[in-house]
Amino acid sequence: MKNKIELDENLWFTHRCCNEKHYLTGNSRFFHGKVYAWCPKKSQSIHVSISEMGSMSIFCNYWINGFLSGSIPNPPINSKGDLDLLGDEYKKWDNSSKINY
Ligand SMILES: [Zn+2]
Repeated sequence: MKNKIELDENLWFTHRCCNEKHYLTGNSRFFHGKVYAWCPKKSQSIHVSISEMGSMSIFCNYWINGFLSGSIPNPPINSKGDLDLLGDEYKKWDNSSKINY
C-alpha cells in the first residue's frame, strides 16, 4: 500500500539543483533548520535548507518566515546581558535568519 502525499500547490519553491517546482510538506524534524518537501521530478521527499531554495511563492515565503522565527536561537547578548544591536555578533545572527531575494 502506498501513502498518497497531499500537496498544497500554494507552497511551491524552486531548488537550486533541480528546476522543477517543489512543495513544502513540513518541518524536517531530523535536521535542525531544514524543511521537508516533495520533489515531483524525483518523486520523493527531500530535506531542504533555506540556502538551497531559489524563488518561491508568497505563501511559501510567509511559511518559511514563520518557520525560521520559531527555529532560530535567541540573539547574542554582550557581557552585560544586553543586546548589542550594532555589534558584529548581532549582525551575523540577524543576517543568518534572513531570506535572500
Ligand atoms: Zn527536485
